[in-house]
Amino acid sequence: MIKFSEHLRGVFGEKVYKITLDAGFSCPHGKCIFCEEGSFSRAHSNLLSIEEQIEAGAASLGEKFGARKFLAYFQAYSGTNKPVEELEKIYRAALVRDEVVGISIGTRPDCVDAEKLDMIAALDNYTWLEYGLQSANDKTLEWMRRGHDFACFENAVQLTKARGIKVCAHVILGLPETHDQVMHTARELKRLKVDGVKIHMLCALEGAQLAKIPYYYLSEDEYVQLVCDFVGELPNDIIVHRLAASGLSKTLVAPLWVNNKFSTLNKIERELAKRNDLLSMYLHDDKFYI
Ligand code: SF4
Repeated sequence: MIKFSEHLRGVFGEKVYKITLDAGFSCPHGKCIFCEEGSFSRAHSNLLSIEEQIEAGAASLGEKFGARKFLAYFQAYSGTNKPVEELEKIYRAALVRDEVVGISIGTRPDCVDAEKLDMIAALDNYTWLEYGLQSANDKTLEWMRRGHDFACFENAVQLTKARGIKVCAHVILGLPETHDQVMHTARELKRLKVDGVKIHMLCALEGAQLAKIPYYYLSEDEYVQLVCDFVGELPNDIIVHRLAASGLSKTLVAPLWVNNKFSTLNKIERELAKRNDLLSMYLHDDKFYI
């Protein structure tokens, strides 16, 4: 397993910092059980142009950390949810400056098609498509009201990888699944040869449907064990973007331990080291836990 920041350092010769961009994307679905509007970080006002957001982000990270290379990150909502011509203008605007060495686009697997992916591939840049999968089990996807099935994700992965674009799968642990069902998701990611994975704990945020129903949330220790089991099923060359994430503290309803992200990451590291896993080299880097 390879830590994402180390992967970037290997490719670009130095630390690369993400600039989170707001291009005014929306979500074509809006029904996931865990989703609350505003749950995505919004680093910059959407009143600013993409070029202005890049300039502001680069200046701020440069001043704070001496950052010189950046990845343009479209995180909020579905970063492919516009007509292809508009998308191309947005992505190209993000890549104008030489210091922006690549682009990462978060979206739903049912929000891409061959035309959009052809355009993204033609950007001819270092590119990631981050797809929200959450689980490879269709019953769980139904429970979550994701509005797509696993076959949809598989199709998106194949279309994306066929164009040489790297794929990161977002996965949620702590769903109503057996241990074997969770491991099934890891095995499916291995089978599809996804390039990267980003793992989250299921949590309830204010305003989300999940916050209104009784639910058993994993304890921090249970999550630590499960995430270590999960990564143990993944291939050795997969790039791990994230092993734990926190909701916004202001809106988190449960479980409250999710807000202690550094405690969780330390426990995961210790457990991985105890298991004598190569991932013991996975040292957390708070710049990438947003
Ligand atoms: S796809 Fe993403 S933004 Fe849309 S409802 Fe689901 S979690 Fe929310």
